[in-house]
Amino acid sequence: MADLQLKNIYKVYPGGVTAVSDFTLDIKDKEFIVFVGPSGCGKSTTLRMIAGLEEISKGELYIGGRIMNDVVPKDRDIAMVFQNYALYPHMSVYDNMAFALKLRRVPREQIDRRVQEAARILGIEMYLSRKPKALSGGQRQRVALGRAIVREPKVFLLDEPLSNLDAKLRAQMRTEITKLHNRLATTFIYVTHDQVEAMTMGTRIVVMKDGFMQQVDTPQNLYDFPANKFVAGFLGTPQMNFFDATMTGTKDAPVISFGKDQQVTLSKEKAAEIKDIYALLNTGKVFTFGVRPDDIHDDPEFIAKHKDTAFKVKVDVVEKLGAETLLYCTLDHDAADVNEDGSIKSIADDTTNMIARVDSRSTTGRGQVLDLAIDIRHIHMFDKETETTLLAYLPE
Ligand code: ADP
Repeated sequence: MADLQLKNIYKVYPGGVTAVSDFTLDIKDKEFIVFVGPSGCGKSTTLRMIAGLEEISKGELYIGGRIMNDVVPKDRDIAMVFQNYALYPHMSVYDNMAFALKLRRVPREQIDRRVQEAARILGIEMYLSRKPKALSGGQRQRVALGRAIVREPKVFLLDEPLSNLDAKLRAQMRTEITKLHNRLATTFIYVTHDQVEAMTMGTRIVVMKDGFMQQVDTPQNLYDFPANKFVAGFLGTPQMNFFDATMTGTKDAPVISFGKDQQVTLSKEKAAEIKDIYALLNTGKVFTFGVRPDDIHDDPEFIAKHKDTAFKVKVDVVEKLGAETLLYCTLDHDAADVNEDGSIKSIADDTTNMIARVDSRSTTGRGQVLDLAIDIRHIHMFDKETETTLLAYLPE
């Protein structure tokens, strides 16, 4: 068990690529930290610097209070699980798990105890004598985890460990790794490009882009209080709707205009969250208005109660997903389905510019022109140039 401190860490690869810039983070003992971001954002490089597989170009790394920059990987008390976990095919599951301990000349009885214990925790005791090729993908992944567990490390580092598995197995292994973290009560650092894995597994998430940390917080805080447009768009599916917008009205009842002729009025409470409302109010300054699909409703009762936030759209496509329904809407609600000469419009003239996630029992159909209403408490606003939030809601 250990805490980690990363202080102003940089990675510059030979040739001059700066893969990681100014990475600073305190990781507490027993946390489950997830590094998430699109491919190439520097997640793996950061993890590999913690593991000692990459040199740290600048900055300091501490594990358990001890500076680690020049400590070789095997002395860092960490264990790493990779995407390509490459079990030794000619060895049994038992020997795969025991191998690293044998190399370290751990006494035989202790090896046996640790392998049996890891196998029990992972539910693979009955496969110990099998070769990896006689196992399913999920079972192999468990063996890879077992190899890490037997080392009894202070920190587990996991680099996209589930990305080779199919969707169903991935969901299952996700919960198994979460359970494992709870049982082992050890620090986990997990790299993924999958926002669902990040949201479901992390106690805290580090969102990265182009080598820079964007925001660090709990999954719920990142979802509710994104610091910038990138974080807002990266977390959540379907992703947040973004519109160019302007603001008129008064300080206590500002009106946001967006789309074709859509307008919504903010409540006084929401207006109070705007950091510098006078920079927007009646200035014509364009900002980015963000609304999550889950905060847009087609329920007549909700709309009747929230007339100030209702606006007209036309529904392009309805996706019935069983537990929920997605409405793909166009803000250009007067638009015809055919061209003026009667020919069919190209589907490449993509008019869908808003997605709403509504109740699965919704009877809204394709082609319908109707009012939707926004739950105004949860809207977001970003500066159009810097893309940082214009709201003062960031939790301390
Ligand atoms: P991620 O894990 O987020 O996909 P990486 O940490 O693998 O991203 O890579 C971050 C950046 O560093 C990328 O631009 C990648 O091309 C570059 N990079 C990674 N490894 C090397 C290397 N060995 N030499 C030079 N550039 C590298």
